[in-house]
Amino acid sequence: AVSARDVTMDFGADLPAVDNASFDVEKGTFLTILGPSGSGKTTLLRMIAGFQPPTSGVITIGGKPVDAAPPHRRSVGMVFQKLALFPHMTAAENVAFPLKMRRTDPSLIPDKVEQFLSLVKLDGYGERSPHELSGGQQQRVAIARALVFEPDLLLLDEPLAALDRKLREEMQLEFRRIQKELGVTTINVTHDQREALVVSDDIIVMNNGVIQQQSKPVGLYRSPNNLFVASFIGIS
Ligand code: ATP
Repeated sequence: AVSARDVTMDFGADLPAVDNASFDVEKGTFLTILGPSGSGKTTLLRMIAGFQPPTSGVITIGGKPVDAAPPHRRSVGMVFQKLALFPHMTAAENVAFPLKMRRTDPSLIPDKVEQFLSLVKLDGYGERSPHELSGGQQQRVAIARALVFEPDLLLLDEPLAALDRKLREEMQLEFRRIQKELGVTTINVTHDQREALVVSDDIIVMNNGVIQQQSKPVGLYRSPNNLFVASFIGIS
């Protein structure tokens, strides 16, 4: 579904933020980009989202270059830590927003909104404002908003970082449940190796802008490519 070929982002520092990255994400899989702070994870995700064109290289989604369509025409849902809900809209209005942007038949919107609020277990919360919801509930609304237009691709950039550990672990499993239910291809960014190993079909390990390995979780354990991978996932 997603493919990157020789993708580099050079901000003019000593090392490129992302250095010659090539990888494929299979349709319907949950892929995690795992690496320490500053390793280039967010930069890579921003290029996939089309927020920033790479210095060189090409990223395609469903065979088309990412910049071929304006953002609201792309079939990409996003939940970022800092991509907050619209504060003056209710939960239901937040979820309806991407449907309105996409000129969905207005008579279909209420049912869709209800269906997706139910998917994230927020039945009955539609009329609340964001400030009347807990942090975890707000993130659930953000998930519903990212998925309601049934995107081909979901991008997650540490959306749970602000939550406490217990809630974070619950929500990780929640993401996974919803992802499987909808079969949406997902690219998730984290520095948390435990999270990556638990929720992912496939993992890309990055360090200093360079992809160190792409593998299923078990492959990282059984045959890490190098010492960095072994020590970062905690087996050396
Ligand atoms: P974290 O886990 O801390 O969010 P990350 O792995 O997501 O880190 P990036 O945010 O992608 O890392 O940053 C990779 C490198 O690129 C860092 O050295 C960062 O300082 C640099 N960088 C990121 N964005 C910019 C920018 N807009 N201009 C200049 N340098 C940048």
